[in-house]
Amino acid sequence: MLQIHDLSFVPFITSTEIEEAIAKVAQQINKDYTHKTPLFLGVLNGAYAFTAALTKKITGNCEVEFTKLKSYAGTTSTGNIQNLIGVGNLKGKDVIVVEDIVDTGNTISEIVKILEAEEVASYRIATLCYKPEAYKKSYKIDYIGLEIPNKFIVGYGLDYDGLGRNLPEIYQLK
Ligand code: 5GP
Ligand code: MG
Ligand code: MG
Repeated sequence: MLQIHDLSFVPFITSTEIEEAIAKVAQQINKDYTHKTPLFLGVLNGAYAFTAALTKKITGNCEVEFTKLKSYAGTTSTGNIQNLIGVGNLKGKDVIVVEDIVDTGNTISEIVKILEAEEVASYRIATLCYKPEAYKKSYKIDYIGLEIPNKFIVGYGLDYDGLGRNLPEIYQLK
């Protein structure tokens, strides 16, 4: 058991399972982007770990950038999203958005709006974790590492009020 602030968590996904899921996503991207140079756009803070691990497994040339949005307070999505670090010039780029987790989809929908305004050549979405029961949007999630039930998790980049990002495995709320 793991205690963070006032909450207890139990082990959920091992670091080996996470690495295997990331390797599969990388394999698909390597196959799909043989004739393109993707720009990975990691969504801070949560996706820092996934972005680093994923891009190390990309065999061709690629670019890596980050953006920062905020929609969560504690363990629930507020739906109120702020863009804290804007994207750079993405015009004409083949962007792959890298998310730690897609929950309601509010964050993704905000990012999609930004990418369309930036006139990117193409965009796809990659996420380490996906909660199908919580997803309220209709954008296709192109690359999914792990499909998980609608329960709050921490670890591998994901935090609970600032703590838990450093954990090499994923824990679920008890
Ligand atoms: P959405 O906008 O899809 O509702 O949520 C996206 C963001 O909320 C994620 O990128 C992540 O930062 C945060 N989030 C969603 N679900 C969880 C969760 O189970 N655990 C943690 N730690 N963060 C989450
Ligand atoms: Mg995120
Ligand atoms: Mg968070």
